[in-house]
Amino acid sequence: MSAHLLENLNPEQRAAVTLPHESALILAGAGSGKTRVLTTRIVWLIQTGQVSPHGVLAVTFTNKAAKEMMTRISAMLPINTRGMWVGTFHGLANRLLRTHYREAGLPQSFQILDSQDQLSAIKRLMKAMNVDTEKYEPKKVQRFINSNKEAGHRARDAEAYDEYSMRLAELYEAYDAQCQREGVADFPELLLRAYELLYRNEPLRQHYQDRFRHILIDEFQDTNTLQYRWLKLFAGPHTALFAVGDDDQSIYAFRGANTANMAEFEREFAHGNVIKLEQNYRSHGHILTAANTLISQNAHRLGKNLWTAEGDGEPIRVFNAYSDQEEASFVVDEVRALNREGMNLSDMALLYRSNAQSRVLEHALFSASVPYRVYGGLRFFERQEVKHALAYLRLLTNPEDDGAFLRVVNFPTRGIGARTLEQLTDGAARAGMSLWQAACTGGGKVAGFAKLIEDIKQVTADLPLAEAIDHVIEASGLADYYRADKEGADRLENLNELVNAAALFSQETEENTYDATGEPAPGETESVRALDTFLAHAALEAGEHQAGAGHDALQLMTVHAAKGLEFHAVFITGLEESLFPHEQSANEESGLEEERRLMYVAITRARRRLYLSHAQSRMLHGQTRYSLPSRFLDELPEQVLLNLNRRSEPAYPSGGYHAPAPAPRSPQTGNDTGYKVGQSVAHAKFGTGIIIDFEGRGADARVQVKFRDVGTKWLALAYAKLSAA
Ligand code: ATP
Ligand code: MG
Repeated sequence: MSAHLLENLNPEQRAAVTLPHESALILAGAGSGKTRVLTTRIVWLIQTGQVSPHGVLAVTFTNKAAKEMMTRISAMLPINTRGMWVGTFHGLANRLLRTHYREAGLPQSFQILDSQDQLSAIKRLMKAMNVDTEKYEPKKVQRFINSNKEAGHRARDAEAYDEYSMRLAELYEAYDAQCQREGVADFPELLLRAYELLYRNEPLRQHYQDRFRHILIDEFQDTNTLQYRWLKLFAGPHTALFAVGDDDQSIYAFRGANTANMAEFEREFAHGNVIKLEQNYRSHGHILTAANTLISQNAHRLGKNLWTAEGDGEPIRVFNAYSDQEEASFVVDEVRALNREGMNLSDMALLYRSNAQSRVLEHALFSASVPYRVYGGLRFFERQEVKHALAYLRLLTNPEDDGAFLRVVNFPTRGIGARTLEQLTDGAARAGMSLWQAACTGGGKVAGFAKLIEDIKQVTADLPLAEAIDHVIEASGLADYYRADKEGADRLENLNELVNAAALFSQETEENTYDATGEPAPGETESVRALDTFLAHAALEAGEHQAGAGHDALQLMTVHAAKGLEFHAVFITGLEESLFPHEQSANEESGLEEERRLMYVAITRARRRLYLSHAQSRMLHGQTRYSLPSRFLDELPEQVLLNLNRRSEPAYPSGGYHAPAPAPRSPQTGNDTGYKVGQSVAHAKFGTGIIIDFEGRGADARVQVKFRDVGTKWLALAYAKLSAA
């Protein structure tokens, strides 16, 4: 059985999978099988009886990756893997805190604030404290709080050296107190709280250190200071840490990720036990050459080589568009052509540097009826109507949650005015109560609202999750509100989708092992627990779920979100100076290197076909911008590129300012030869090559072929006797 497991690995990979019980660092480039090695090692360890699923802790970067890992493991290992801890840092911290909420000083049903919720909580606090929001921008306050938490600093440890930063530290402290009162935790708080829990509680730390014999971390290059310290706390004297990473793919320095962790890990744990993987199994040769050449221009690298046994494959197609709209229709044409040729839409990805770029692309796809899915845009769980419904649910499980209370106390409208709420807030603050408590002891419409919540709570107590949520949406008046709204159909549909998501979630957590929550706490009813779990899931899921998912759809996402993934065909769009590399980073050396790593990540997502496009003009943030092609295009070796514009007519009007933009054209159509650009062909004398251009029609048609051995030649099709290679 285990021999079979190791069959599909090369010798270095096999060595990494079967390392003895000791810490190690796997340092390897994109597509070299790091994630595959990590997953296989877990299976191998369990299968050979070296560890039980209970003794494994595995950390990945996204929920999607965690899910995939569990699916792969379950497929290879038909045993119950429920005890295994596989998840993201946040998911695992949440699991720890749910299990030990008392020791962590949290209420049993503590709620998670996503970054929007956090910002409104900060604004609310600043209002109550009469802080000038011009001088102290709430977003800056949020950044101050989060970066301190990510560095492991509480307010008293925050660096404050002048009046301004001392005020920020004060706000941080007051904000933490407010969260504590309301029983809520923001994202960085999850990590910091979990860290402090283990740091302070020796018996608990001992327990987990004894339990986890193997800790495995994917994408190690992107861990920040706190995450690394967190891992070290879990690791006892008998724990083997297995970290896999690629310094060339470190793309989160702007959020505190620290590649120095790799060097430190090597010193502290791996003690020179470093395995390098150099064979790439993902991409065809030209794509890999482009990636290698690009990244070699970074000065600060640990240095690695990547090669592939695959052939060169197709050249990388470069398209220079006149405008962002032309770029979008070019992409649509190509996507449809590939799809007609049999490639699934879900095997193609459309990548961009920043979210704002997706609008034009989405519009073009929508108009052409090409199904697509956006990852990490406006996340499903962040939509206004969904947030309203979630706020009602949060009140059911944790009525002290003032943020949730304020969101829905007068939504849908119940005639509770701003003045009433101000009085309620003042009264609550004076009496040291939550808004909920104040509402229950008061009278009038606010008490009516409290009664409504109590009634809903009673009815839903014994209902399955999806039915409970359905009831909340009706009884709260949300459904009627959106039914009455002319524009409410979409929102109503999203609320239905929330019910579906809950049903799917219950089903998955029941039958599957993927479950990021703790063991049930005593005295907690099934339905409350189900609701808490679902709410945590909604907060943590970070846009990886999309309503109506399941059918074949083109994948749209930022380059950051594409990390770790692979696709047959990849389009990298918007390759323009000041967009990619981004203007904020382009001027600093370290910023530019990070942008180049980002480009390296983007290129290495592609397996067989890669498109790079840029537009001469683009509407962004309400303005038309004119830009030069990205310097990254110049950094790629010319011989692997195929310029799709080098045809007879230019891609942009040359007839002056008012000339209409030409109709978008697909470089693959417009000839009647049966051949197309990019196709591999063979010639009896010249060998194999790739068609890079066309000229003429019918009997006069000529093609330009870039041969592997003899360079580029024009051939008359009528005589040349080409065959498809
Ligand atoms: P990234 O740095 O992008 O995260 P990675 O190093 O984690 O990449 P994987 O995603 O594990 O790479 O592997 C890349 C692809 O190569 C996957 O499709 C994987 O199944 C395949 N692969 C890895 N090793 C082998 C092998 N020995 N034989 C065949 N295919 C392999
Ligand atoms: Mg990987």
